[in-house]
Amino acid sequence: MARIVGGIGASHSPTIGFAKDTNKQNDPAWAPIFAGFAEIRKWVHEKKIDVFFLIYNDHVTSFFFDHYSAFALGVGDIYPPADEGGGPRKVPPAKGHAALARHIGAALMADEFDMSFFQRKALDHGCLSPMSMMGDENGPWPGSIVPLQVGVLQVPTPNARRCYKLGKSLRKAIESFPDDNLRVAIFATGGLSHQVHGERAGFLNEEWDNEFLRLLETDPEKLTEKRVAEFATLGGMEGSEVITWLIMRGALSGKVKKIHSQTYAPSVTNLATLVFEDTGGDPDPVATESYREHIGREFAGADQIKGTYPFTLERSFKCYRINDFLHRIVEPAHRKRFLEDFDALADEYQLTAEERAMIRERKWIEMIRMGVSFFVLEKMAALIGVSNPEIYASMRGETLEQFLKTRKVPIRYSVAGGDKASAIDTAKPGSGK
Ligand code: FE
Repeated sequence: MARIVGGIGASHSPTIGFAKDTNKQNDPAWAPIFAGFAEIRKWVHEKKIDVFFLIYNDHVTSFFFDHYSAFALGVGDIYPPADEGGGPRKVPPAKGHAALARHIGAALMADEFDMSFFQRKALDHGCLSPMSMMGDENGPWPGSIVPLQVGVLQVPTPNARRCYKLGKSLRKAIESFPDDNLRVAIFATGGLSHQVHGERAGFLNEEWDNEFLRLLETDPEKLTEKRVAEFATLGGMEGSEVITWLIMRGALSGKVKKIHSQTYAPSVTNLATLVFEDTGGDPDPVATESYREHIGREFAGADQIKGTYPFTLERSFKCYRINDFLHRIVEPAHRKRFLEDFDALADEYQLTAEERAMIRERKWIEMIRMGVSFFVLEKMAALIGVSNPEIYASMRGETLEQFLKTRKVPIRYSVAGGDKASAIDTAKPGSGK
């Protein structure tokens, strides 16, 4: 059972990364920022933390309004620094703990949080400002992260109560991860009070921030009663991102020990650093085991159904490159190169010789067994002039004619559009190039 050692809170203002990158350690105007993070670093080092469950909000960098989600969990093993307009910061990529992330993802879904999942997205200052302060003279912090991106920049957003409830499930999720040695800290970022848009830009409220920190420690339930609009009134519209700190607090024991708390408001944001130590005992092994069963309940046995290969997060992670390569067939320039410049394109996507052979030789069932999604295969089929029923037949080990005999009406079709659709309609089966 992995162990939650405590919770960390820290602002993620770009000021912090800027201070680090421009070496302001000894400048009195900036020194308090470094002093606050030094306290966090000390605790992390003393407590031998292995993993940060890192709660942040992206600032319309890697998560745009074409698909904006409430709770997006990172399930990858590497996250590069994002380019936020002026080039990426010179910080190393963050390592992801993919196995723990998958376990937490399954647990939260089992508890009816409708999560979204991401891989390979770049992290912006929401993550990197505090993360870059976790390194020391020996280099970057050596641990790994499980990032949770909370969409708080497009209304409607989740509310404080929802965040707190998610934290409660997160505790059970982490404590049921079968690794007795893993030591986890829940790291919430954002805030405190600030507003960066409109005539109210520059608003901050230190009195409220102090009250927020007091309630977070002693009476978090009270905070969950507040509406997002109240957080915005008290702490600024963008400052309302602090509702995500309730995920951290919800994941900790009822009573916590405050190790460190500091605020500093030099400019437009009240910068905070905070450490709570968890005072809960070891989880009940019986309850933990029954929670594990609860996590697995919905899909237990699905992978035992003959001829069935559920597309799990594990497969998605393992086969990301080839799925990405085939998915991009939806882009005209990519599909042109797929047809005319296959090897160079496959080199760019680092496809293995085996993966290339599977694609070239249309080994549909082998690709499915390996972890390729059917729904990228039908895109490839549409491009090369193969109908869907030909893929079904091939996967079943039948000829098209044999397969069509098993249908009420022996029709052929594809996801192709326009001329490609007509070509499949009129082509002789199996004539696709
Ligand atoms: Fe923010």
